[in-house]
Amino acid sequence: MTNIKEIYREVHEKKIDLIWLQFTDMLGFPKLVEISSKMLPKAIEDGVAFDGSSIEGFARIEESDMLLKLNPETFSILPWTMRNDIKIAKIVCDVYLDEDTPFDGDPRFRLKKVLKEGEEKGYFMQNGVEEEFFLFKLKDGSPSTELVSMGSYFEMLPEDIGEKTRALIAKNLEEMGFEIEASHHEVSPSQHEIDFKYADPISTADRIITFKIAAKTIALMNGLYATFMPKPIYGVNGSGAHTNISIIDKNGKNLFFDTSKEFGLSDIARYFIGGIFKHIDAITAIANPTVNSYKRIVPGFEAPVYVSWAVKNRSALIRVPQADEKTKRIEFRSPDPTSNPYLLFAVVFKAGLDGIENKIEPGDAANDINIFEENLRYPGKFKTLPSTLKEAIEALKKDEVIKDALGKIITEKYIEAKEREWDEYRTSVTDWEIKNILPQY
Ligand code: GLU
Ligand code: MG
Ligand code: MG
Repeated sequence: MTNIKEIYREVHEKKIDLIWLQFTDMLGFPKLVEISSKMLPKAIEDGVAFDGSSIEGFARIEESDMLLKLNPETFSILPWTMRNDIKIAKIVCDVYLDEDTPFDGDPRFRLKKVLKEGEEKGYFMQNGVEEEFFLFKLKDGSPSTELVSMGSYFEMLPEDIGEKTRALIAKNLEEMGFEIEASHHEVSPSQHEIDFKYADPISTADRIITFKIAAKTIALMNGLYATFMPKPIYGVNGSGAHTNISIIDKNGKNLFFDTSKEFGLSDIARYFIGGIFKHIDAITAIANPTVNSYKRIVPGFEAPVYVSWAVKNRSALIRVPQADEKTKRIEFRSPDPTSNPYLLFAVVFKAGLDGIENKIEPGDAANDINIFEENLRYPGKFKTLPSTLKEAIEALKKDEVIKDALGKIITEKYIEAKEREWDEYRTSVTDWEIKNILPQY
């Protein structure tokens, strides 16, 4: 909704009490500053001051006073609050240091900056994401891994509370103006997927954050816990956030489509893939940001392990779906839903631009082969993704192109936070060790 008068009318007519000012920290966690709807005109006019000092990756002490600038076009009512005593709408914000200075550590700003770089060269990214997640039971009010359903792929379980909850999440998102392409049960028990129609990356990232808030809230309202943890259960598929990408020119022409080329895929698209491959180790630090992420990207669970691309192959890192001129795209399959979508899109676009600029070839497509088996037969034929968070972070430290996309503040704070996470994890004693090592020694 772009018309400010219309927004005020909605707020008045629907008796909206509060406005949530949405932004994210460096790790992609949603942050909210809440204002009374009476303050909205002033907030749109002047921004809203807040203290950023305790937000991950944000201010140093001397910079703790920050300013949220509202983007009125992102206004939407949170439909699930409309039956409550307190009715809420949200607006997505940009983080500023003062009236004129955007904060370099704001993930949304970083994405905008990389998008602008591309646009100056005539490339406009569009993307849509397939968000997978689990719905588990709450136990004594706390998250558990207790299953809600035993359903599997596309299963119809109309009586199932998980199905009902997913449908409610999708319905609420649609009421907010999201275009949901599909939503269905996924392969693992209690696992679900909601797919968003493609849009510009800023809108897609904003929607992912709002979606996560909606999913968690609506699940809780139904006594469930929605989790985006990549691999909550050993031995079954984990949750990915497959990212579909295309590049258009300023007139909306799809630059990934070229019928004169193999698979209808243009040179630009192939170089874009080449760029992702070149920077994949550092990208992985962003696409797979938690120690748990690396338990998903292992053989046998429809998640990629090897750096490869293919037209008909779900074990590839990048799949090129059959598509027409309008929908020709690449599906980048390693990202998981713990990634910060703003940073993810920024680093992927930056890598793709590097590929285009330097005509980086991705190698042959791995069609019609089982990449896992092929790699057993010819070890080393395909490079593997980093196998730990530590490996990915080490790669990030060395990748100037990806660090440039993240900017100085985020690069530094991100590496610091993730090294801390790795170290805590590395030195903790796990259930696995107690079960397998303690009885033996
Ligand atoms: N859940 C799988 C993953 O971890 C993907 C399944 C699918 O192809 O949708 O990426
Ligand atoms: Mg899926
Ligand atoms: Mg997919």
